[in-house]
Amino acid sequence: MGEKKFKRTTVTAALPYANGGVHIGHLAGVYVPSDIYARYLRLKKEEVVFIGGSDEHGVPITLRAKKEGVTPQDVCDRYHKMIKDSFREFGISFDVYSRTTSETHHKFASDFFRKLYDDGKLIEQETEQLYDEEAKQFLADRYVVGECPHCHNEHAYGDQCEKCGSDLSPMELINPQSTISGSKPVVKTTKNWYLPLNNYQEWLKQWILNEHKEWRPNVYGQCKSWLDMDLQPRAMTRDLNWGIPVPVEGAEGKVLYVWFDAPIGYISNTKELCDSNPEKFGSWQKWWQDPETRLIHFIGKDNIVFHCLIFPSMLKAHGDYILPDNVPSNEFLNLENDKISTSRNWAVWLHEYLVDFPNKQDVLRYVLTANAPETKDNNLLGRISKSATTANSWQFMATS
Ligand SMILES: [Zn+2]
Repeated sequence: MGEKKFKRTTVTAALPYANGGVHIGHLAGVYVPSDIYARYLRLKKEEVVFIGGSDEHGVPITLRAKKEGVTPQDVCDRYHKMIKDSFREFGISFDVYSRTTSETHHKFASDFFRKLYDDGKLIEQETEQLYDEEAKQFLADRYVVGECPHCHNEHAYGDQCEKCGSDLSPMELINPQSTISGSKPVVKTTKNWYLPLNNYQEWLKQWILNEHKEWRPNVYGQCKSWLDMDLQPRAMTRDLNWGIPVPVEGAEGKVLYVWFDAPIGYISNTKELCDSNPEKFGSWQKWWQDPETRLIHFIGKDNIVFHCLIFPSMLKAHGDYILPDNVPSNEFLNLENDKISTSRNWAVWLHEYLVDFPNKQDVLRYVLTANAPETKDNNLLGRISKSATTANSWQFMATS
């Protein structure tokens, strides 16, 4: 991956959302490939950390808590444990699996935001937002449903239409309805802080479209289609009470946008790992700020914009961080530029692998489970149950 020679590798796997079990498609598309890659580097005696954790903020958790009559923290505790246990049982070899409700993460993400704020990298904007007068609350993201302005699906969410995949804001929905009280929201003015992505557009174009042509076609293509449109400032805070409080005066009742704090979780979880075992892992800065470290984000295909455009812009705005060298999103498993997707390449690679690493077939079992473009979940389930013998108590979630 890439031509530059690096000293060590930081591997991250997308933080699963603590609102249910891990999706089987994500297991095959994100966690198994990232696990193989980390194990592969360890076998080669390279310096590597493999970082995971649960994403525990955002609106869906609060909605589930409300429905079940428990607190959002209760929801996170339950699913964090379930997901963590599942990964362990399946043999995903994270060096750390922490969570974004940890004290370390709250402080880290808060300080990150504050630095951008102090450096003048954020803009303050008053905008009109939907407000639920019965619940006395602004309606961010999934607190609103309504008709999609693009495909006219009547059950689009305030942040996304799951039918046509459009990225939405609540104000765009036709006939919006509050998911808290069911009432028709009114429009009210509120203040939030935005990252002016438009300021990073030219830099992103140069960095991705010119300097990272080797990224997978689906990732590169999606970045290109975003960058061909004009990027707009994007709100990094929300009027919500579940999340990390915005560390700025006059921001009471506001928290960091979940997509601002979640990717920072990769860094804070690395810090937690390094603090717990400095002899083995050294300082966290080594893994995130040394240009000789290669950063690889394994992600689901629905996370591309956040990992390729927004998070890198945040890191660039901060100024102290390295940027990802590659952002593999599931299509094929790629090891050392060998696409293990055709029988010919596969056979060659298999032979060389067993010469180098005799009796390591268990690692290959993982390769098999990931050796395909994502197909239907039930097909994957069949393949995995045949090939992965350690998956006894895995929490399988079907999409349909
Ligand atoms: Zn739609």
